[in-house]
Amino acid sequence: MTVDDVECEPSLDGTEFAIASAECGNTVDTEGESARIDETVSHFCCGSCRSRFEEQYKRLEEGM
Ligand SMILES: [Zn+2]
Repeated sequence: MTVDDVECEPSLDGTEFAIASAECGNTVDTEGESARIDETVSHFCCGSCRSRFEEQYKRLEEGM
C-alpha cells in the first residue's frame, strides 16, 4: 500500500480558492509562478521562491 495513489489535482482554471506558495507559504495570486519538478507541479507566489525551491531540490538530488 502506498500513498502514491492519492492524486488530487485541483483545477487551476479558476482562482476560486487560495493556493499557498510551496516555498514561503504566501498566497499565490495572478503574479505567481508554477514549476514542474519531477512529476509534481508546485506553485509559488514569486519567481525567487520558485528558484529557491528548485535549487533546494537540485541540491537534495545531488546530495543523494
Ligand atoms: Zn514567496
